[in-house]
Amino acid sequence: MAVDSKPAPINFTSQVTKLIERVDPNFRVTTQQTQKQESSSSDTPIESIVQGRKLSRTYYYHFDANVSASAKAVFENAVNVYNQTGIVKLVPGNATTRQNEITFFVYSKQMSSGNSNGTTTMIESGHGGPQITQQTGWNAYTANHAQAGLNVYYPSAAIRKSVAIHELGHALGLDHSRDRHSVMYPVDQGNTSLSTGDIGALKSIYDTGDNQ
Ligand SMILES: [Zn+2]
Repeated sequence: MAVDSKPAPINFTSQVTKLIERVDPNFRVTTQQTQKQESSSSDTPIESIVQGRKLSRTYYYHFDANVSASAKAVFENAVNVYNQTGIVKLVPGNATTRQNEITFFVYSKQMSSGNSNGTTTMIESGHGGPQITQQTGWNAYTANHAQAGLNVYYPSAAIRKSVAIHELGHALGLDHSRDRHSVMYPVDQGNTSLSTGDIGALKSIYDTGDNQ
């Protein structure tokens, strides 16, 4: 089962504003409702910090040094799923400050053991999310330096294509969906192809019409 959290907040400077999700999306399903009505109702919700941003469709991605070959293969599979949409373009390499970037990483986090009453413990199988940098003025730009990670403590639960697709979805700006067919459903359904709503949300973020 996939339950995830977002990276911790980071510092900001006076010139560059960096915004990052801080709240576990599992706990804000109701509070975010009113902010998510701008696209067609069946679309997967968009992370609030990505809404209204003008982001390039091109991302440069790289792996942290400790990512195993098998985890890399799972991440690469997820990259292919998004590239096949033709909406975003993820290419290996390092980005400049002004370009979009994705860092793939692994971490090991053991969850507390099950409750005495027998309730199943939710396993965190990964986390990921966007980090928006927006600079205004003569040198204006907006860039997303995002992260997507898999929890290798539970390899059978976390090193899965469906989980990597979910976490990469967060990195690209998708939020949790109530649609079980969406890759952004908060509990892993083993979905490895994007739903119509997932694709619609990506289009609303990246199809800006100026062919960036
Ligand atoms: Zn999630």
